[in-house]
Amino acid sequence: MATSMRPNIECSDAEWQARQKLAACYRIFDLMGWSESVYNHISLRVPDEENAFLINPFGLLYSEVCASNLVKIDIDGNKLDGSPHAVNKAGFTQHGYFHRHLHWAHAICHVHTTATMAVCSLEEGLLPINFYACNFIGRVAYHDFEGVTVRAEEGERLLKNLGNKNILMLRNHGPVVMAPTLEGMFLQQWALQRACEIQMATLSMGRPPRFVPEEVIAVHQRDLKEATPPGGGPGMGDFAAWTRRIDKIDRSWRD
Ligand SMILES: [Zn+2]
Repeated sequence: MATSMRPNIECSDAEWQARQKLAACYRIFDLMGWSESVYNHISLRVPDEENAFLINPFGLLYSEVCASNLVKIDIDGNKLDGSPHAVNKAGFTQHGYFHRHLHWAHAICHVHTTATMAVCSLEEGLLPINFYACNFIGRVAYHDFEGVTVRAEEGERLLKNLGNKNILMLRNHGPVVMAPTLEGMFLQQWALQRACEIQMATLSMGRPPRFVPEEVIAVHQRDLKEATPPGGGPGMGDFAAWTRRIDKIDRSWRD
């Protein structure tokens, strides 16, 4: 039995697969409670086309995103398909900058979840005080708040502050997570979210947290890959599992 009828949109098989995967990702983010009304983005490079990206239609909830209503745009946020939907062009500015300059960053998400925003608003940022946080210590960068990130001239500073990391904590704002694959990005966003939730809970208890020593963090990061589920790459098994979960709720994301 076919999993779904492919709507009448003209695109390659590779693009259609990317559309379905990204639509699933929006639904999973929504299920996790990571969506932010009609705002924020997860963007994905179209695999077989130069300078083409998929992004959410501006004005729709993440729960309304499906494969065919994702909008194809160029690096400047201009529409490349005949989509009737608008794009939050200003909001794509920072994603566009990272996609343009980081050729490995095929998938990028930016969220405003309470826990990640709260940690981004702490002077110390992410602290090495829990299991998940230890995944990230030394691997996240920070960028000071300059107001809403819509000005292209901020791009150079974003890139400079990111350095050789793949997660940029926008201070007083929220994280940007970048990865070569959507599944890898999802896994890191999930672990970062958990790290921030637990930090928020720990610091709320009114007692001093216990810091993990540097040498333990090093061992943890070295051995972490042993603890990932099978599936062929970072996050593959996780993403497949959560895709089964959203299928049980509503399969319309596939259309
Ligand atoms: Zn934001």
